Amino acid sequence: MATLKAAIIPVTPLEQNSCVIWKESSHIAVVTDPGGDLPRIENFLEKQELTLTKVFITHGHLDHAGGAYELAKKYNIDIEGPHIADDFLVKSLEEQGKRFGLESAKNFEPNRWLDEGDQIVIDGEKLDVYHCPGHTPGHVIFHHPESKLAIVGDVLFQGSIGRTDLPGGNTQHLLDAIKDKLWPLGNDVTFVPGHGPISTFGQERLTNPYVADQVLK
Ligand SMILES: [Zn+2]
Ligand SMILES: [Zn+2]
Repeated sequence: MATLKAAIIPVTPLEQNSCVIWKESSHIAVVTDPGGDLPRIENFLEKQELTLTKVFITHGHLDHAGGAYELAKKYNIDIEGPHIADDFLVKSLEEQGKRFGLESAKNFEPNRWLDEGDQIVIDGEKLDVYHCPGHTPGHVIFHHPESKLAIVGDVLFQGSIGRTDLPGGNTQHLLDAIKDKLWPLGNDVTFVPGHGPISTFGQERLTNPYVADQVLK
C-alpha cells in the first residue's frame, strides 16, 4: 500500500476545496468535488502530467457537485457518490446554479451511489467510505488509512462544523457522525474540509468550539 499525494484546488466563488488525489508511481489521479472552475483543475492535471480516472462527490451542493457532469463527460470517466439520499440535490444542480449565478452547473445521476462500508479506488489504493448525514442527508466522506488522509466535505471545518439549516439538514445527525465516524479514524488523520484550511481530527477534538471533547461530553 502506498501513500497518496493530494492537492487542494479552490473552486467557485465559495472557494470550495476541490481535491486532486493521485499515486506518484503511476500518475493516476481522481478529483473530489469539482464544483466549478474546471479549467483550474484541468490545468493542474496537465502540469503534473496526471491521468484523471474518476470523479468522487461528497454531497450534492452546487459548490461541490456543479462541475461533476461536465468534467466526467470531458474525460469519459465515472462519477461515484454521493449517497442516494442526496438524489434530490444532484437533480437540482441546474436550479441551484441559476439561483446562485453558476450557470454552468449540470444535473447528473452518478454511475455509482456510495454508502457506509463501500470503498472507492485510485489505481488499486482503497479509500473507505463513511455515510455522514447532517449537513445533507446523503453526505459521504473518504478516508485513506495509509496516508492518514480524509476528505470530509462540509461535515467538519477547522474550528467549525457544517451548517444544518439547509434542506435535509439535521444537527444531531451531524454531531453523531463527527463523534462516531470521524474521531475513531484517529487523532493523527489530516482532513481536507470543503472550505478553509486543513486540520487534524486531534486538533479539532482539542479546540473546535462545536465538537471538542470537552464540549460534546
Ligand atoms: Zn455543502
Ligand atoms: Zn460547501
